[in-house]
Amino acid sequence: MDEHVHAWLEAYHDGELHGRRLQQVESHLASCKECRSELEALQNLSALLQESPSPAHLMPPDRFVAQVGLRLPRRQEEANRRGSLNISWRAIPFGLFGMWAFIQALFIVIDLILLGLTFGLGDLLSQGALISLNRNELLLWSIGLNIGLSMVIGLLYLSWLVSWWVGRQHTQNET
Ligand SMILES: [Zn+2]
Repeated sequence: MDEHVHAWLEAYHDGELHGRRLQQVESHLASCKECRSELEALQNLSALLQESPSPAHLMPPDRFVAQVGLRLPRRQEEANRRGSLNISWRAIPFGLFGMWAFIQALFIVIDLILLGLTFGLGDLLSQGALISLNRNELLLWSIGLNIGLSMVIGLLYLSWLVSWWVGRQHTQNET
């Protein structure tokens, strides 16, 4: 098989080849699949450029680059802004869960302290302020506060879910 004709394909595609060179390229193309597919790629590319609303070959390259450049950063910025908003928005349930876990841990510590008080640890701390309060009352307060805070966090999570759902419906209608 003779040598590939990559170097001549562009000139061939533009109709700039004549005589022996043209014959050589055509006969090679007839026998070489690789060069044929490269010619096809060239044809596809030029078809694409002709279809595009602002063809690159009608505009000086620096102006073309400037125009593309003008469009790109703005879109990028917008996408970045949306991206970071999305990330913090999606982090809300994790934040709520973290808050809830922290409160649970806090109440476990408080309840352990109260439990310790009922098992005589209080005698060691008899001068402490906690001792003067009713232990049962403290326990009820702790449980009530725990349930209340859990409900507030649950409500926050529910409202997040609702607005997430509404937002999803909205974007589904848009697209
Ligand atoms: Zn070839």
